[in-house]
Amino acid sequence: MSKIEKIRGVRGMNDVLPADARWWRRLEESVAATMAAYGYQRIRTPIVEPTGLFVRGIGEVTDIVEKEMYSFVDSLNGEALTLRPECTAGVVRAVIEHNLLYDGPKRLWYTGPMFRHERPQKGRYRQFHQVGAEALGFAGPDADCEVILLCQRLWDDLGLAGISLEINSLGQPPERVAHREALIAYFEAHVDELDADARRRLHSNPLRILDTKNPVMQGLVEAAPRLADFLGEESRAHFESLQTMLRSRNIPFRINPRLVRGLDYYNLTVFEWVADGLTVCGGGRYDPLIGMLGGKPAPACGFALGVERIIELMRAEADSGVDPACDVYVVHQGEAAGLLALGLAERLRDRGLDVILHCGEGSFKSQFKRADASLATVALIIGEEEAAGSRVGVKWLREAGAGQQSVALADIDEWLIDRMSGSIDEHTGDD
Ligand code: ATP
Ligand code: MG
Repeated sequence: MSKIEKIRGVRGMNDVLPADARWWRRLEESVAATMAAYGYQRIRTPIVEPTGLFVRGIGEVTDIVEKEMYSFVDSLNGEALTLRPECTAGVVRAVIEHNLLYDGPKRLWYTGPMFRHERPQKGRYRQFHQVGAEALGFAGPDADCEVILLCQRLWDDLGLAGISLEINSLGQPPERVAHREALIAYFEAHVDELDADARRRLHSNPLRILDTKNPVMQGLVEAAPRLADFLGEESRAHFESLQTMLRSRNIPFRINPRLVRGLDYYNLTVFEWVADGLTVCGGGRYDPLIGMLGGKPAPACGFALGVERIIELMRAEADSGVDPACDVYVVHQGEAAGLLALGLAERLRDRGLDVILHCGEGSFKSQFKRADASLATVALIIGEEEAAGSRVGVKWLREAGAGQQSVALADIDEWLIDRMSGSIDEHTGDD
């Protein structure tokens, strides 16, 4: 007999298994509540977008566009398409396409899978998930502060204490041009110390050299001309004002002059939330983007967080454990009992309990094994004897040494609801 080969998932693209569902649900619920608390509304954009959107919206000389995009040609009509590597460009495209800013600024949020062809490692995958918020049409530092506070509230709600905030200002385009010229002159004077990536970027995007992860270049980068020294009055005031607001809310932050972010469209405020040396969330202001994508120019700011990285932190903070699959597991044996059990399970579901009805045959012993594994609070038993007497056996599965009780089938709903009201709607079972 020939062995049939198993098909494995794509490298760097993960299955989220039921044992992890609780973390994802917890994060999703917390995100939805926090977004609502700040008046952000959900937007859902397609996973596939025209490749040109990202080339224009993220910038040609970026890691993402240079080497991380899953791009392909639609074989049916020749369109150049890409699996979204991030969602801001798609949100802005949708906002322009549907003229969402016609009646004023908008607060939007999204979540979903993103795709980048990177080398998979812990916290870095080829399909990963982001949650993001975009405040569109707001020019002032109050909006920058708002999205930062929103993040802080989310960390608090999730019980994550070890995430720290770094901020910087990238100034405005003319200020960056002046800084850029100074940077090019500086790196030209040290061209022997640049790695291949840096040399290639020296004239196309010298700012990105500051973002290098190459340890050999850290000293060089440390001593490079600082953008802060090139900021004009307005940019400085914007940055100062943001800091005043953050201080007034007691949000600790560190100014990191080397913080430039990977995407090219940022101006003024940029920020990152860092935990254990890993960036879990990045954001900032991107006033040029709407205009760059063909919309009526409007200022904007936002952030994106990496769901897998946040979930790693949640896992590290919380006790381990697994979600129960249900509240009640119904065990039954015999044809008449089976029909009674079917009706009972439906009645309990009507009342809001999560119920697994044993499917298939099986000894009581093997059924109880399943009941135990489901982590249900209680097993209800209808055997031939119970069926004949219109009664139900009750066994509390989480109480050591609990014996079996017997309750009239007609009364069991109320009886059980009385004793279990605490667990109803406490969890929604599996996603
Ligand atoms: P990094 O410097 O780690 O590559 P980035 O600057 O490319 O991050 P952004 O594009 O700003 O990241 O994305 C925002 C967040 O999304 C990151 O802070 C991170 O938490 C998450 N993220 C980015 N790329 C990945 C990935 N390949 N796998 C998992 N999470 C990711
Ligand atoms: Mg990256």
